[in-house]
Amino acid sequence: MPEVRDTLARSLASLRISVTDRCNMRCRYCMPEADYVWLPRESILTFEEIARLAGVFAGLGVTKLRLTGGEPLLRQDLSTLVALLHRDARIRDLSLTTNGVLLAHQAHALRAAGLGRVTVSLDTLQPDRLVAFSRSTQHADILEGVAAARGAGLDPVKVNTVVVRGFNDDELVDLIEFGRRAGVEVRFIEYMDVGGATRWSREQVVSQGEIVGRLARRYGAIEPLPRAAAPAERFRLPDGTVFGVIASVTAPFCGTCDRSRLTADGTWFLCLYAARGIDLRDPLRRGATDRELAATIAGAWEGRTDRGAEERLSLADRGALYQVDGLRADPHREMHTRGG
Ligand code: SAM
Repeated sequence: MPEVRDTLARSLASLRISVTDRCNMRCRYCMPEADYVWLPRESILTFEEIARLAGVFAGLGVTKLRLTGGEPLLRQDLSTLVALLHRDARIRDLSLTTNGVLLAHQAHALRAAGLGRVTVSLDTLQPDRLVAFSRSTQHADILEGVAAARGAGLDPVKVNTVVVRGFNDDELVDLIEFGRRAGVEVRFIEYMDVGGATRWSREQVVSQGEIVGRLARRYGAIEPLPRAAAPAERFRLPDGTVFGVIASVTAPFCGTCDRSRLTADGTWFLCLYAARGIDLRDPLRRGATDRELAATIAGAWEGRTDRGAEERLSLADRGALYQVDGLRADPHREMHTRGG
């Protein structure tokens, strides 16, 4: 089947695969509640099922796979899945997004299995802040994970920081300095009003303009770099240090979005903000052929009109996307289920 395009000519190049909805952190922009409704255990796809779907997607033009979660390193033996996915020569970019807590122990096995690169979420350099913000005491393990990823040869290693006003917006310079020392590129993410972010407010978003402005006051003129396919806009400091900003709130990039998301139970979302996904687990487990699965996927993508982040931008009175009751009614609305 030829490569498919949606109604805005966007290709189906990039698939994020969530391997679990469970997480070992409770970041306040993602999982701030005391308890959660989880996906039923029997609904979670096996590695073989994930690899089969990934193969069908690859046949339709997917070349980039990113494993995510929840926390993907909580899924036992993740390197076995990496090895299965790595076998497919059509997949040119195989990456992982993790909070890094368990990375130090797994980095070598993941690299050996064929993982190419990794992004570690790190919102603060202050261990006590991590406790307050993410209910995690494992700050040292995250730093060790970043170093181990570099040591294992994962390349590049990036660090993602969600910037939240009043929490960590005083650490922009410290994080840039950390990135330089650790040999990793830091990417600042605007705090998004996605499912899970029940405490989101516009005032807490630190915009790309403000982030770059603050860094320019410290470092001098900052040069924007030509935009690549990635969601981050990249900038260069006068000394050559490169950092990125993912401006999903103030400057969404829906027009070039080639991403879709497969949850751990096989629900496929065409947009991070989409109200509903498409169940691929049911046809898969009922014995659908690859051709039938491909027809379902291609048909849905060809009809895709989503511009979720741009639609949010046009709202005059913007608040949290969902309240707790809405998330409990359907955990697929959660960022930790969709994989970020
Ligand atoms: N547990 C892994 C991690 O921490 O990277 C993977 C899953 S996490 C849901 C994926 C990404 O989503 C992380 O970089 C996280 O910071 C980001 N994220 C979650 N909620 C967000 C929000 N409200 N705004 C912006 N980014 C968010």
